[in-house]
Amino acid sequence: MYSIDSIGQILSAEHIVLVNKDSVITDLVYDSRKVAHAAGSLFFALKALRDGHQFVKDAYEKGVRSFVVSDPNFSTQDFPEGNFIWVADVWHALQQLAAYVRQQFTKPVIGITGSNGKTVVKEWLTQLLAVDKKVYQSPKSYNSQLGVALSLWNLNDDYDYAIIEAGISMPDEMALLETMIKPDIGVFTNIGLAHAGGFSSKTAKIQEKAKLFTHSRTVIFPGKYGFETYLPKQADTFTFGEEPDNNLHVHVLNEEARNQHSVLVLTHQGVTANLPIPFSDKASQENILICVSTLLSLGYTLAEVAGRIGKLKPLEMRLQLLNGKNNCSIIDDSYSNDLASLQIALDFLQQQQQHDKKTLVLSEMEGMNAKLEDKLFKLLEDFPLCRIILVGSALVKLQAQLKQPVAYFADTEELLENLDKLAFANESILIKGSRKFHLEDLSQLLAAKSHETVLEINLQALTHNLQQYRSLLPEGVKLMTMVKAFSYGSGSFEVANLLQFNKVDYLTVAFADEGVELRQNGIELPIMVLSPDEQVFDSLVRYKLEPEIYNFRILHAFISFLKHKKITDYPIHLKMDTGMHRLGFLPDEVEALLLVLKGDKQVKVKSVFSHLAAAGDPAQDAFTQLQVGRLQHAAQQIEATLGYPFMRHIANTSAIARHPAIYMDMVRLGIGLYGIDMDNKQGLDLEPVSVLKTTITQIKELEVGETVGYDRRGLIKRKSRIATVKIGYADGYNRRFGNGVGEMMIRGQLVRTIGSICMDMCMLDVTDIIAREEDEVLVFPDLQQAARSIETIPYELLVSISSRVKRVYFYG
Ligand SMILES: *Cc1c(COP(=O)(O)O)cnc(C)c1O
Repeated sequence: MYSIDSIGQILSAEHIVLVNKDSVITDLVYDSRKVAHAAGSLFFALKALRDGHQFVKDAYEKGVRSFVVSDPNFSTQDFPEGNFIWVADVWHALQQLAAYVRQQFTKPVIGITGSNGKTVVKEWLTQLLAVDKKVYQSPKSYNSQLGVALSLWNLNDDYDYAIIEAGISMPDEMALLETMIKPDIGVFTNIGLAHAGGFSSKTAKIQEKAKLFTHSRTVIFPGKYGFETYLPKQADTFTFGEEPDNNLHVHVLNEEARNQHSVLVLTHQGVTANLPIPFSDKASQENILICVSTLLSLGYTLAEVAGRIGKLKPLEMRLQLLNGKNNCSIIDDSYSNDLASLQIALDFLQQQQQHDKKTLVLSEMEGMNAKLEDKLFKLLEDFPLCRIILVGSALVKLQAQLKQPVAYFADTEELLENLDKLAFANESILIKGSRKFHLEDLSQLLAAKSHETVLEINLQALTHNLQQYRSLLPEGVKLMTMVKAFSYGSGSFEVANLLQFNKVDYLTVAFADEGVELRQNGIELPIMVLSPDEQVFDSLVRYKLEPEIYNFRILHAFISFLKHKKITDYPIHLKMDTGMHRLGFLPDEVEALLLVLKGDKQVKVKSVFSHLAAAGDPAQDAFTQLQVGRLQHAAQQIEATLGYPFMRHIANTSAIARHPAIYMDMVRLGIGLYGIDMDNKQGLDLEPVSVLKTTITQIKELEVGETVGYDRRGLIKRKSRIATVKIGYADGYNRRFGNGVGEMMIRGQLVRTIGSICMDMCMLDVTDIIAREEDEVLVFPDLQQAARSIETIPYELLVSISSRVKRVYFYG
């Protein structure tokens, strides 16, 4: 623990004013809404989306007395009891403090990075090492600049190992993370499939990731990546792989998948061993191999490692947002329960605007004691929950303390017996439990029944992509995000909640009813409607939706509707047709338009905008500029006549990537948010947001000469194994994917369709791969490639996924 005085000395402070220099700091906070122990908190006034200096007052009112600020003119007049440390850059100061705390730690720090699997590997390494060591791990996916700094703060020499995860979303970030983490041992999990097409950007990405290991003494990675080229000279490598290669430290002789488990046959230093593992999918096998190699490199024997691996527990580490019965939303996080992950889950619950009622079901945590109970109480004390359901006898005391309505059950069985009495309906329910309480049984009972073809949507990836694009926008440029067509197939309020929480400026839908649905689910952001018609004027006004006005017919009709309702100054957006020739006023119609608008009181122009026809095509850049010029000209004419300012905007995803000069007042981000950017000129690190998955229903062996499917189109030319999967054209899997055009992935292996696509099913040739009935199947392993193969674009594939395919939301 550090006193504020000693922290002042650690930071390169420019100026320090301490009222009470012995104040002991226990918590670092950056968000005044999340203050848990005010007296021991040090508030960092970070400049991010908002300027943290604005919230010093709020934090002070909550009882916080110590602050790190950067603004030299910041007045402390209203904070007579406040300790203030002035630094040049608050972010830097936070990281400096984290780096200092880390430097005091004398045991090994293991740093993990890679495109996928970081969190799983971190959790598994912890499970494996915890058998005989005390392990400190960064909570869940606390892997960003901020998350890493906060995780390091709690590190101390009671632990034998620290395992810290590092994730980057922008160039140059890894160097900053490295200065904090300084891993002694580096673990590099893998390079993702995303961007496999653009090799140069992939190299750049690897080089960036390798920076984490600048001072590491050992780095562990899959041999196939040739990662050693990117590592500093002092680092020893430790690699594994399947190819016979004398440089590998661990050679994988065989991977045999059975139902739900598999056996890895490995050699290390001349010893061969069979490792039974409780998983059968390729990704888990890779993650296990990373963990095995790490333990071997730490000096454990292959036999010891084999014993521990067999006991690994599968992790459902992601928060899962499910549709529940009785119009409930279920947030299932029943894998682990500690304060940090509870905080994350509560924040996510807070974002859910679709229900006013919010309920928490919480089990006992591992190692409950008075101190932990106190912290738990402080965390829950002021949290707006309509009820809390506690499970586990160690929570009995907490029950009496909490002000919210509380129900208490000694164990999960008792809770389940009383389920009817709890009468869950019309609410968001967070289910948060330690593994041994098996609260997943509760979420299964509360969740609506599922169809087995699902579209998994990763809301954290969506947030990540949003931040990527945001990083490109200069200050003052607003961000409109397109949630039309059910958010490009990904969902309505589920996506909008997240965008609202992350403070985008505007949402856009195609039709009024999409906007109405958002309003009914608690979305309060301004919403623009792209193609309104007369029938929906009433809903527009009732739900505060702002129409795009694109021709005289709709303008006259809307004005007379507003007159009739005696409404004035209703916000509208004028669409100019500058060359797309879809909707909008042509340049030569502007004068006539102004005649209508000039004396009008009913409408107020919020923005004048246009849409680019070919923003992604370098050959059309001159045309793009022509469109921009036409919009600017029209907007000038309109502003001169109306005499008041409004926003101008034209840039969609491709233009954001390719034409920074035309952002104007606002950009309209569409498909990029969902992880797809065909140009990606700025080298953004986008993550795929949605994954379409189905399952194998049946597998059969067929002889030469047999045929598969309607019209006998799939001829068997060799003895084959054919799998039937549960997706067809009624789910949005296009018929053109039939007869070998479509590619799917099973356990990491690519397979092709055979025969025609049926309405609800289709068939895959799995002769050359390991596949079993009930295996999971990835329908579009590479969405852009899939789109190309049937001569369409990813947009069409995404929005065609039919509404009967269940959407499953994850966070993390
Ligand atoms: C769909 C749409 C966008 C977003 O386009 P993306 O290519 O998905 O970024 C922007 N503006 C308008 C008017 C649109 O209809």
